[in-house]
Amino acid sequence: MKIIVLPGDGIGPEITEATTGVLRAASEAFQLGIEMEHDVVGLESFRLHGTTVKPELLDRVKAADGFVMGPTSTLDYKKGDAKQVGPSAFFRKGLDLFANIRPARTYAGMPARLGQFDLVVVRENTEGFYADRNMEAGNAEILVTPDVVVSLRKITRPACLRIARSAFELAGRRRNKVTAVHKANVLSVGDGMFLACCREVQKDFPEIELEEIIVDAMMAHVVRNPARFDVIVTTNMFGDILSDLTAEMSGSLGLGGSLNAGAETAMAQAAHGSAPDIAGQGIANPASLILSAALLLSWHGRRKGEPRYVEAGTAIEQAMADAIAAGECTRDIGGKLGTAAAGAAVAARLKR
Ligand code: NAD
Repeated sequence: MKIIVLPGDGIGPEITEATTGVLRAASEAFQLGIEMEHDVVGLESFRLHGTTVKPELLDRVKAADGFVMGPTSTLDYKKGDAKQVGPSAFFRKGLDLFANIRPARTYAGMPARLGQFDLVVVRENTEGFYADRNMEAGNAEILVTPDVVVSLRKITRPACLRIARSAFELAGRRRNKVTAVHKANVLSVGDGMFLACCREVQKDFPEIELEEIIVDAMMAHVVRNPARFDVIVTTNMFGDILSDLTAEMSGSLGLGGSLNAGAETAMAQAAHGSAPDIAGQGIANPASLILSAALLLSWHGRRKGEPRYVEAGTAIEQAMADAIAAGECTRDIGGKLGTAAAGAAVAARLKR
């Protein structure tokens, strides 16, 4: 398996190094023959190449089996500068990475303020309220007058059908329940179509229950009783917000793994940002990116029909859970270790 590694900005290089250490240990333990090739995106790429993403990276990544990308400081990029595009949007759009898979679960050894739970948010990743990726050219936010803005939301049937299918397939490997989160009472045409697509796909999965919840009520339900949820499917912006909430509910945003998957390739990317406030201090939690890399291995294994990769992905998740239970983790989640040592603790468990 060939993986391209793009460390990104802020804490990106630190957590990426910890993650590649875990990938090397998994490769050895499960004889995966993982080859990693490093390149740059973000501010380092801008410094070296005059652009935050080299266009040729698209082909490089396509030729590999997947990639790991650290967070990028997109807020610091100059808006409207074609040489300072956000790498996430570039790859999600350029590679049609339509499914953002974001698991959230509680861990032994960490306080579970809302009870134990284990759920996955499946977020549509290519359209919705994301105005910067809704158009072939230009931006779907329009300044009509200096005081009037129109932001367009795009919802398409093919995108709804494929994200619904991803959710049902995932639920079939878990606890057979899909919750569709929507706002069809207000966005009756767009979210109405999203719901109709979920119902249509459900016909192919009669053993899987489909539940429908309005997004605002969902905030109460998920906080009140997260254990009742298995797979949650929703449109782009709702999923963005809900998955940060569920990651934080699991103990920390730094625990949320995230995979951006398309038909041909997938990007492992931490759910959090580049955390400039703690960059360079060696204290960032690498868990999110490590768990994202685990999702990438499992995705690859299922796609290629090679169970070793799925087993390696599961083993990384278990090693992470064991390390957290033993207190071998970073300070933000109650441990005492730095970034490198927290990564090494997971890697060491895989080698045992
Ligand atoms: P952030 O997620 O970077 O940080 C929010 C808070 O969480 C900070 O206090 C930070 O120290 C903490 N935190 C985040 N990740 C952590 C980790 N792994 N370990 C320990 N603590 C962690 O959000 P922000 O400050 O709003 O954004 C900073 C930059 O990141 C911005 O430029 C933003 O655009 C960018 N961003 C990038 C991505 C991405 O690349 N996928 C996602 C979100 C934000």
